Amino acid sequence: MNTLLRIAIQKSGRLQEGSLELLKESGLSFSNGKDQLKTQARNFPVEVLFLRDDDIPQYVEDKVADVGLVGENVFAEKKKKNQIVKRLDFAKCRLSIAIPRSETYGGIASLHGKNIATSYPNIVKDFLQKHNITAGIHEISGSVEIAPGIGLADAICDIVSTGSTLLGNGLKEVETVMQSEAVIIANPELGPEKQKILDKLLFRIEAVKKAKN
Ligand code: ATP
Ligand code: ZN
Repeated sequence: MNTLLRIAIQKSGRLQEGSLELLKESGLSFSNGKDQLKTQARNFPVEVLFLRDDDIPQYVEDKVADVGLVGENVFAEKKKKNQIVKRLDFAKCRLSIAIPRSETYGGIASLHGKNIATSYPNIVKDFLQKHNITAGIHEISGSVEIAPGIGLADAICDIVSTGSTLLGNGLKEVETVMQSEAVIIANPELGPEKQKILDKLLFRIEAVKKAKN
């Protein structure tokens, strides 16, 4: 039986297009129908799985997938036993803390005792701990930026790229918590055959990157 490297990518969302493009530019040929869960490349020992990005680190830890393509923010939040094997230079964004624009920001210490709404509780917890701040963390899964306006929280920590969403919700960015880009994560115990396929793929990705610059 031939070994296949299973690669998990986002089924739909901001990472999907860049992920498909990367794999195809690396020479992999495969079909990607709308309702497909997985597909096998025609010309490379790879199977592509289409999943929710938030689930990918867990699947890679559990070896349901061998490698995955996710935002570094999701990788950091999930705290799974995966390693970053490649940074991909797309889906660049940052996780930032924002407060209502009407408030004056008194530095990081002014977050003490506040309530922060976020979809990234682990990252925020680590950030606060690092700065010796005690604050409440209110985990919500979406539409985080409306939390201060509806009285759910004093501040938020969310993904920012241009800042226009914050502005539209009467918020201003006051601290950068982390920078993020798309990354390839891998299970640390792939075994020699899968590792060989991964190395070949990474080599091709690097070649594509060099050709673009
Ligand atoms: P769902 O899980 O419901 O599919 P999501 O909000 O987790 O949605 P996306 O919005 O598709 O997923 O974002 C996926 C990843 O893309 C994020 O985790 C982040 O790394 C990156 N990203 C998100 N927003 C931006 C942005 N505005 N600019 C660049 N990269 C972004
Ligand atoms: Zn998601």
